[in-house]
Amino acid sequence: MTIDLFSDTQTRPTAGMREAMARAEVGDEQSGSDPTTNALCERVAAMLGMEDGVFMPSGTMCNLVSILVQTRAGDEIICDDQSHMYNTEAAGAAAIGGVSVKPLPTRVGLYSLAQAEAAIRVPQRTAPRSALISIEQTTSFSGGTVWDLGVMRAIRDLAHSKGIKAHIDGARLLNAVVATGIAAKDYAEGFDSAWIDLSKGLGCPVGAVLCGSREFVVEAWRWKYRLGGAMRQSGVLAAAGLYALDNHIEQLAEDNANAHRIHEAIRNAPGLAFDETAGQSNILCFSVAGLGVTAAAFAEACRKHDVRIRAIGRDQIRVTANLDVDRAGSERAAEVILATASTFASRAETPHSSSAGLPAGSLAQ
Ligand SMILES: *Cc1c(COP(=O)(O)O)cnc(C)c1O
Repeated sequence: MTIDLFSDTQTRPTAGMREAMARAEVGDEQSGSDPTTNALCERVAAMLGMEDGVFMPSGTMCNLVSILVQTRAGDEIICDDQSHMYNTEAAGAAAIGGVSVKPLPTRVGLYSLAQAEAAIRVPQRTAPRSALISIEQTTSFSGGTVWDLGVMRAIRDLAHSKGIKAHIDGARLLNAVVATGIAAKDYAEGFDSAWIDLSKGLGCPVGAVLCGSREFVVEAWRWKYRLGGAMRQSGVLAAAGLYALDNHIEQLAEDNANAHRIHEAIRNAPGLAFDETAGQSNILCFSVAGLGVTAAAFAEACRKHDVRIRAIGRDQIRVTANLDVDRAGSERAAEVILATASTFASRAETPHSSSAGLPAGSLAQ
């Protein structure tokens, strides 16, 4: 069986989750009368210390709606250049909101207070209006890095002092919570909008919950409806979310630990390069440039040994621990990655070597 570390989105609903979904009490979400969805929204809003919440089909819609509510056409938003919002949401801010994006250059998805300060524009008629700044906790494409609470708060306060809204893309906020022991509501305190994804490490088939003030959620609802995100008997889906909050948060700690184990096992592998921030949560990124092979070739070589990892760009590999891969699976994956690196490294030393896939049977099963 494949050890799938491609993404924590690949998780499948567990038997217990499916049972909870089957038993869910339901109503009409669109009119606010689905009791299970309402319970989920209240639960997440309380977790984040926010006044209210709204159930969304996806994290992508949470980001988009947060932008649509808190900006107007011609505004500019600020985020990091590795962010999901900037790279993999089909330019929704531009396409639907008429909003431009100022991506701040970062190595591991963290920008500094000084960068934020420099990015916020001085109001003048020739410039776009800086309207919203976004922080991705934890970072997705740059290795699950965890933002420091003090830096987040300093950026939030800076934003507010300039009349700008502060947003948390908390797709994996709970991975940060279990990694640091800092409560979700401490991270979200004072931010204008924040959300968590249910379909990543929490293992739900679908959904995310977007939170903010009561007024924010009124406007978020209008956009959700307009974009076609309003639902009917969504309690079936919300029940999966409630089940995950009851049963899968401890699993996130296990995911973080498995990524940490993989990191420990492969950090000294020949030709692999890690950032000093690597291994902070459930995502582990490293570069294979030192092996003289592309990330795609490296991932393909691991795939032949039933380990699925993700190539990002030319050189980066992303490994994402998740609830479908246990400790033994993680250890096996680390062995395969290590052996793959060693094989490519020894070829790189041999003249006339090729960087094609590994010879079959070069790894112990
Ligand atoms: C997955 C992800 C999203 C989008 O969430 P979907 O539920 O897949 O739409 C947004 N931001 C980050 C950081 C993510 O990892």
